[in-house]
Amino acid sequence: MMKFLNTKLFHYLSFFLFLNSAILPVKSSSALAAWALKNNGVLELRTKSNTNLKAYFQKANKIYSDRFWVDFPGELKSPRTIKGNGPIKEIRLGKPNKGKTRLVIEFKEKTYLKPLTWRMVGLDQNRWRIKLFSPKYSFKKIGEGEIEKRIRNIKANQNSSYMRKKVHDYFQLPEVIHNKFSVVIDPGHGGPDPGAIGIGGLRETDVVLEVAKTVKKLLSEKGVKVRLTRTNEVDLDLPPRVSFANNTDADIFVSIHANASRGKRRDINGLETFYFRGWRGRLLAKRIQKQILRVSPGSPDRGVKQGGFYVIKNTRMPAVLVEIGFLTGRLDSRRLEKNTHRKRLAYAISKGILEYLSKAG
Ligand SMILES: [Zn+2]
Repeated sequence: MMKFLNTKLFHYLSFFLFLNSAILPVKSSSALAAWALKNNGVLELRTKSNTNLKAYFQKANKIYSDRFWVDFPGELKSPRTIKGNGPIKEIRLGKPNKGKTRLVIEFKEKTYLKPLTWRMVGLDQNRWRIKLFSPKYSFKKIGEGEIEKRIRNIKANQNSSYMRKKVHDYFQLPEVIHNKFSVVIDPGHGGPDPGAIGIGGLRETDVVLEVAKTVKKLLSEKGVKVRLTRTNEVDLDLPPRVSFANNTDADIFVSIHANASRGKRRDINGLETFYFRGWRGRLLAKRIQKQILRVSPGSPDRGVKQGGFYVIKNTRMPAVLVEIGFLTGRLDSRRLEKNTHRKRLAYAISKGILEYLSKAG
């Protein structure tokens, strides 16, 4: 697994540091109070107390070079770009969507970052630190506001050890007992039935098949037996998908789909996961929903719902149908057309499944 992580997955995935504490009310000004990237490569942040931060890193792609960003609740008033120096190309402060603030640090090409060793440390309830590069790069400090200013009457958070997790913990999928579990993954549609057609002709059948294949790969590496209801573009009706699952000893059934909105409204985006019955189905749906949301920042949470879809209604094992985004939505479709995002979704679905199996399987 580590080899896979360090080579392949690493290139494809952004990764995540989720630092959860109390969540700020939605309608508030930016929770980012001050920031400084110092000449020793340490980024320091001061936020409102009990802020829920999310930090991400993405390897260079065709559009951007290596990027690290942190999302804060609360809306930034004036988006701005600050020119970088040394290994930093630029620093941008923006609002990726309403009610949010994003601090983006874009690196120059050919920096030798080691994001797998990065960790975000909470110094107290409103200060954070992460070392991004080493002093071998000459860099002149950039920052805004007073980092050191302390808010009175707030005791340092004694409980910050949970934040001291290495970034790469988030890369690791949960372990389950090998060769114990069997899963059926059902990529929706196929063959003459392309499913939803999205912006730019993006086809549901293609997107979900690719995600399903990656889920199979990831779960197989964890010793889970995975069968796909289809492995290529074939016409497969719903009853054979169900009988296929019912005739195996599968512990769970996961059908993967992508959405389209009526009238192809570009403003409708979001993720949802359906189950038909039972606490196990519901739990599985919740685990998967939580993980796919994590890799789709800004895309609305349409929730875990009960739904009477044929494939989840008629399968005998705990079964869910996951909608990984709207192919017709501006935000979702831009992501779903990307291989990197499909990999991330596969990773998230796998994580949800493994979490479920390790607890309820
Ligand atoms: Zn579908």
